[in-house]
Amino acid sequence: MQKITISSETAVPDKLWHGSFYESLAGNLLRWYDANKRELPWRDCRNAYFTWVSEIMLQQTRVAAVIPYFLRFIGELPDVKSLAECQPDRLMKLWEGLGYYSRVRNMQKAAQRIMSEYEGRIPGEYDEILRLEGIGPYTAGAIASIAFGKRVPAIDGNVLRIMARFTGSYVPVSDTGFRKEIHRLLSACIPKDRPGDFNQAMMDLGATVCVPKEGPACKKCPLSTGCFACIRQETESLPVKAQKKGRKIVPLTVLVIQDGKYTAIRKRKEKGLLAGMYEFPNVAGTLNEQEALQNVKNEGLDPLKIERIEDSFHVFTHLEWRMTAYRIRVAELDRENPEGDMRFVSKDESGQKYAIPSAFSAYIKYFKENG
Ligand code: SF4
Repeated sequence: MQKITISSETAVPDKLWHGSFYESLAGNLLRWYDANKRELPWRDCRNAYFTWVSEIMLQQTRVAAVIPYFLRFIGELPDVKSLAECQPDRLMKLWEGLGYYSRVRNMQKAAQRIMSEYEGRIPGEYDEILRLEGIGPYTAGAIASIAFGKRVPAIDGNVLRIMARFTGSYVPVSDTGFRKEIHRLLSACIPKDRPGDFNQAMMDLGATVCVPKEGPACKKCPLSTGCFACIRQETESLPVKAQKKGRKIVPLTVLVIQDGKYTAIRKRKEKGLLAGMYEFPNVAGTLNEQEALQNVKNEGLDPLKIERIEDSFHVFTHLEWRMTAYRIRVAELDRENPEGDMRFVSKDESGQKYAIPSAFSAYIKYFKENG
């Protein structure tokens, strides 16, 4: 199966994303939705106001918790006019327990605008809905598709998670290019006759099957036959989340330098990160083979053979090492006269005497093989 890399620079292969593929994705999804959809009080009534209220409430709250709030709210404010005219104190009371009160204040402003500019009717075009106070692209897409049958996607975190897994994209889901690409793909998938159901099916799939924490229930999923993450068993590594702000990415090249018996390690500085611990020699940056070999020669060693071994990474609080690595066979290491700050140790010594931090755990197996 072809892995799709989605980024602002990389196009999605057309051979996968066209014609019958779209139809089968939408078809499978809608069949599943017809049999499994959640019964919710704002569903199946084609009421834009109900869709709007429910989507705003759902932004920070789970469905089960929202239902009683929703019923109470629309019981007292059943339409745009009543919302526009509601006393602010009463409005706050109706929202009490949901938090993020700016959401309901914005709803009231938008309701007042709908009264003055649209004669009390929520506009049906995506762009007009998007201009209303407190409504972002996801909510506008939900209202336009569910209440007005417009072919626009409603893309939230659930949908991005599903699509990252489905397409096998390792681009962080917050990436603007990724989001645009998913918008383009889903826009083409949405069937003309059931855009609202398509979006609601994605919502339900993200909430009940392709879930984040417990892991997806791929055996129950209507997309499993075409899903990269499911087929390749990579659901645990997808979606990729963006690095937290401020975490610095530090490229590093790790050198596992060995003769037939010993492995080179060195002690880290007494201050700073992993102070005083032992490590495989490493160099800042991503070195190619020639550069890695030169580096070993600069240490006074005589490299005989170089082999690229697996990449690894380690996350610290404020930075992340992205490690490229080489295993380099050298002529005999002189334990009595080690070069520079290096030591040449056996498998047993490494286990008993030298603390090698878990940041290098991917390479310990090479070390141990060499004792
Ligand atoms: S097959 Fe699994 S990983 Fe893929 S979309 Fe369905 S639940 Fe998510």
